[in-house]
Amino acid sequence: MSAPKTTRLSILGSTGSIGQNTLAVVEQFPDLYQIEALAGGTNIQLLNQQILKFHPKCVCVIDEQHAEQLKKMVQIPVEIIYGSSGYEQIASYSSTDMLVSAIVGAAGLKPILAAIRSGKDIALANKETLVMAGEIVMHEVKENHVRLLPVDSEHSAIFQCLEGHQKNELSRILLTASGGPFRNREISTFKSILPRDALNHPTWNMGQKITIDSATLMNKGLEVIEAHFLFQVPASDIQVIVHPQSIVHSMVAYHDGSIIAQLGIPDMKGAIAYALSYPNRLPLSQPIPNFFKIQSLDFYEPDLHKFPCLSLAYDACHQGKTFPTVLNAANEIAVDAFLNHQIGFMDIPKWIEKALTHHTPDNTIDLESINNADLWARNIVMQWIRTNA
Ligand code: NAD
Ligand code: MG
Repeated sequence: MSAPKTTRLSILGSTGSIGQNTLAVVEQFPDLYQIEALAGGTNIQLLNQQILKFHPKCVCVIDEQHAEQLKKMVQIPVEIIYGSSGYEQIASYSSTDMLVSAIVGAAGLKPILAAIRSGKDIALANKETLVMAGEIVMHEVKENHVRLLPVDSEHSAIFQCLEGHQKNELSRILLTASGGPFRNREISTFKSILPRDALNHPTWNMGQKITIDSATLMNKGLEVIEAHFLFQVPASDIQVIVHPQSIVHSMVAYHDGSIIAQLGIPDMKGAIAYALSYPNRLPLSQPIPNFFKIQSLDFYEPDLHKFPCLSLAYDACHQGKTFPTVLNAANEIAVDAFLNHQIGFMDIPKWIEKALTHHTPDNTIDLESINNADLWARNIVMQWIRTNA
């Protein structure tokens, strides 16, 4: 038997939660994965440690100042680059086979497109790029014959539940949601929610932006749109089910009434490993849920009155065109403002709804119209927040 092939990886966002979990998987399988290039933001201490451990050939940081600081720190030869062209370079690094895109937000779009166009397979955590420009990304994936493998745990679950089945046999996707930290909180108290309350997620340990998105249920809304583009299923066939234990990672219902689910402990390493090793499974040393201890798995309908962000995302997905782009951009600005104590928790859906209502969509979907809609929404929401319009 020949030795297994080594997959050469680039990671965008290596210092984040998904990035670090990806490196933890890579560390367990040094014969299977090799790190070619890494990109982070400003955490150069951690990048320096990652350089020492994984020996990438090239590393990108956010700006020149951080690049200079990192250059002074590193003790082994490595090329250090910076800025938006640097992220594209890391994503399309010549010797890389697969890009793990674990950056946050719309900043991931240009690098992903660069990677796809240079023939790299993609392990996608950065759901915002699919929400912002799903049609374009999926079109490029098809044109360039690359694989787009989901890292988001629900989408990895759906992907696994779809294996071996025909698309026309599918009845609907059942997308599970933990419900976030405010599932049982009285809506009358939502006004006093502070960033530190919203950052306290019950089942998942994640970056700040996605943790706030989970508290508003916008994360689930973004995931409905992500699933719509990834699996080419209308939003009306994607049902969100609140499942507080986060053990059932999602399910697919078929026309014969059968439902196939994927289960596991809430740990992103499982989904990351499946994207890296597809169609094989890695012998990860993950514990299997102890059902005798868990005893019951609960399922609830989402409360759209408490969590209007989920309805806004469905609406944007139904409307199509550049509405999902506006939803995503407005959400990024509103979440940032909430984290900076500029707006309250319930102002997040308020500003997003206003942006969607005021948006005049472009009928052509191309990169220019997407970028225009994204920029328009960012500017207008920032202006509304500044002037409390
Ligand atoms: P995080 O905040 O922990 O890490 C983000 C990483 O991206 C960091 O390395 C940061 O330096 C880098 N980064 C952020 N903004 C950047 C910019 N403008 N330019 C360059 N680099 C930038 O975030 P995370 O929780 O790891 O999430 C990453 C992505 O994965 C998000 O899109 C999130 O929705 C998705 N995701 C995360 C989880 C999870 O469990 N954390 C689960 C599913 C999906
Ligand atoms: Mg998810």
